[in-house]
Amino acid sequence: MQTHEIARRWNAFFEKNDHSVVPSASLVSPDPSLLFTVAGMVPFIPYFLGQQTPPYIRAVSVQKCIRTADIEEVGRTARHGTFFQMAGNFSFGDYFKEGAITMAWELLTTPQEDGGYGLDPERLWATVYTEDEEAYSIWRDVVKLPEDRIQRIGKEDNYWHTGQPGPGGPCSEIFYDRGPAYGNAGGPAADDTRYLEIWNLVFMQYQLADVRSQADFDVAGELANKNIDTGLGLERLAMILQGVENMYETDQVRPVLDRAAELAGVTYTSTEDAEDPNFANDMRLRYIADHIRSALMLISDGVVPGNEAGGYVLRRLIRRAVRAMRLMGVTNAVLPELLPISRDAMRGTYPQVAEDFERISRIAYAEERAFLRTIAAGTTRLESSVAQARAAGTQLSGNAAFELHDTFGFPIDLTLEMAEEAGVSVDQSKFTELMQEQRERARKDAKAKKTGHADTSLYYQAHAGQDTVFTGYTEHTTESQIRSLLVNGEEAGFAEQGQQVEVVLDASPFYAEAGGQAADTGLITGDGFVIEIQDVQSPINGLSVHQGVIREGEAPAGAQAVGAIDLRRRLDAQKAHSATHIIHAALHQILGEDAVQAGSFNKEGYLRFDFRWQDAMSDAARQEVEELANIAIRDNFFVNTIETSLKDAQAMGAMSLFGEKYGDRVRVVEIDGPWSRELCGGTHVTNTAEIGTLALLNEQSVGSGNRRVEALVGLDAFDHFAAERTLVNQLSTLLKAPTADIPGRVEQTLHKLRQLEKELAELRAQQMLAQAGQLVDKAETVGQVTLLTHNLGDISSADDLRSTVLDLRDRLTKAGNQNIVVGMVGTSNNRPLVVISANEGAQTLGLKAGDLVKAASQMLGGGGGGKPDLAQGGGQDVTKLDEALTSIRQEVETA
Ligand code: ATP
Ligand code: MG
Repeated sequence: MQTHEIARRWNAFFEKNDHSVVPSASLVSPDPSLLFTVAGMVPFIPYFLGQQTPPYIRAVSVQKCIRTADIEEVGRTARHGTFFQMAGNFSFGDYFKEGAITMAWELLTTPQEDGGYGLDPERLWATVYTEDEEAYSIWRDVVKLPEDRIQRIGKEDNYWHTGQPGPGGPCSEIFYDRGPAYGNAGGPAADDTRYLEIWNLVFMQYQLADVRSQADFDVAGELANKNIDTGLGLERLAMILQGVENMYETDQVRPVLDRAAELAGVTYTSTEDAEDPNFANDMRLRYIADHIRSALMLISDGVVPGNEAGGYVLRRLIRRAVRAMRLMGVTNAVLPELLPISRDAMRGTYPQVAEDFERISRIAYAEERAFLRTIAAGTTRLESSVAQARAAGTQLSGNAAFELHDTFGFPIDLTLEMAEEAGVSVDQSKFTELMQEQRERARKDAKAKKTGHADTSLYYQAHAGQDTVFTGYTEHTTESQIRSLLVNGEEAGFAEQGQQVEVVLDASPFYAEAGGQAADTGLITGDGFVIEIQDVQSPINGLSVHQGVIREGEAPAGAQAVGAIDLRRRLDAQKAHSATHIIHAALHQILGEDAVQAGSFNKEGYLRFDFRWQDAMSDAARQEVEELANIAIRDNFFVNTIETSLKDAQAMGAMSLFGEKYGDRVRVVEIDGPWSRELCGGTHVTNTAEIGTLALLNEQSVGSGNRRVEALVGLDAFDHFAAERTLVNQLSTLLKAPTADIPGRVEQTLHKLRQLEKELAELRAQQMLAQAGQLVDKAETVGQVTLLTHNLGDISSADDLRSTVLDLRDRLTKAGNQNIVVGMVGTSNNRPLVVISANEGAQTLGLKAGDLVKAASQMLGGGGGGKPDLAQGGGQDVTKLDEALTSIRQEVETA
């Protein structure tokens, strides 16, 4: 039975049993405390926590899930995917244990010809929570499952709660016995490979007070409204019904596995035995197939590769797959071969992966290309670090490995493997420590930014199912009511002058930071109070939280209040936001569609825009983007907003479908022409001419494969140009040239400067040689040696010393001296230098220039060396020049 059919029967069965069919929510979790949707119940969390009233009492869904925690299990066990589909049925205060257990049993064991899954009842086992007598007796007495196939399991595995005070309760899990070939007898308590967990039934029965750990908590009492939450892994049932060894061999995954094996020229043997020589490749093929599918589904739901959060997970999945192909010898791009196969396997259930494939594949292929370039660049870097470490006989430092990872995006497993091939180990503990620190920093930043505190339950209470009505598209001042007031993260009846507060209004003209647009600031005023609003965030969907300080009076919760935004600031912010759309479109026109948006931020007068692109933009391309943007501004296009369905928005070619929920009404911002169309909830100018002017500041790299442009708009852009003009005028005055002549004049001046420097150097050399004539007379006889030492003072480089030393040696030779040592010191750029020459005669007396320099340099706090006849050195300490000369003399005296 195909996976799609398993899902269809699921919905049909529960629909027949009065459940409302709820379509899968996005993989991007609607709950801000979770990165991804990890279970079927996630979209229903507000109902289970009593924060919202569900519109139904029974629901059924087949939910797309991502569990990154299982990534290391993928391919190693038979049953874990990073992406999988969890089928669930839910009761909100309606049926409870008996209903859940009997329906589960009925669906699993009803013959296939009657619409069920037709599992052999003899192979099914159930576990219950140790103390859950009720569930035990339902299995035994109602279902009539033999007692030797019901096992009691403790809190670690058979108890569900959120980790916080709130609902909790026992679970009952259903297992399928795959047979003696797969492991030991003894039921699920004994072996989780032979006995495959397929379905978990959660009975939300109690209110928990204090929760200290998974198994350590206090029960406050029974819940008034008991709930049911169940989850069955579609892929796990598919592997049973399709008679295959693991979930990667089921119909929606296997085709990718086969194509990957074909590309790599290896044979997949389906082994799960880690000792088997085929295991390494088999495992790789399994997780390649898994990761490709996860990447497809994530991009389809609006995730783009990046260095943080969900974007990082996606990047890691793609890289792991590419990397595994590489380990099997495939160095070419593999996604163009594998992604379309995954698309075709998934399109039956998720038609959007095919409809949107142009965009999905563009993002995925660009990420793979970037990674292949990263591997090429990082390899060069790694090779030189490894060579250094090997020469020094040390490990490759944790810092070097971290830098490769952090700056070059070079994966650590690749570093480990390539270092090992070269016989060098890696300081992994330091690397892990650095990674940990970085993660900690990122986590703190993200959390502090979003809400100030992590606990969102207060916000759910304040929300109470009622979205803050945003009036700011059309109004700048709105009369409303203070629905809720938080002081220090706690609900407060009122707040006094000077206190920091968070204010929730029924309706508000304040834009909460989203979609890259900065929040509005302004005032909330009422009878006898003024609150200055400094930031507005949306910690949960649909709720705006105004953060600020009471400037005057005392504000009571429930009071009538008028919200008024700082209009000047808003108008400037929306100029920047509209300009961001223009820049986005201009980049597409100049660089091409591959310049996919990776992030953006805009506030009054300023914008930045990040996009996926490997190389720096040329000056010409930058100028073109700036010019094109300014033409669009000057052409004064009308900016429309259109509310429509997602489907129509896509048909219109609207860009960036990030994080939008399917089926929702969406807002398209269109710059006429049509210059650009984007899904966007932000505020915008009415006509592009309002933006005034745009000045592109610079373009730079922000992490591997991402570039950033920054720009100023409106008066800020004008100020920027004005400042540049002032600068040019100053230069013109200084250079005594009209502005147009500045480049010529600067070039001339530089040319002249270089010529003068050359002449100066020549003069110095001549002077030096003239001086040398006099220096010859300073030569003295020390034993059998003619010794000449001197401090030349300030010199331009060691060349000066060398030419003087050689000149003096020649002169002394011509004057008939036999054994000659000449040593000169001098200072260049505050560094002491020394050059010594010893002729053949001196060398036969044991005086070698190299040795002499070593001794002299040591005096200077440095080192040096060279040949026996000429050597050079230097050091740090310019006060020791005389000592250095003395050391030469001493060596000569003892020769
Ligand atoms: P396991 O112990 O096998 O990892 P679990 O206890 O984590 O499973 P639950 O959180 O109870 O699983 O999820 C409910 C059901 O979802 C499971 O019974 C299983 O069928 C399915 N499931 C859970 N995790 C995965 C996964 N990574 N891949 C595929 N199916 C999964
Ligand atoms: Mg698990």
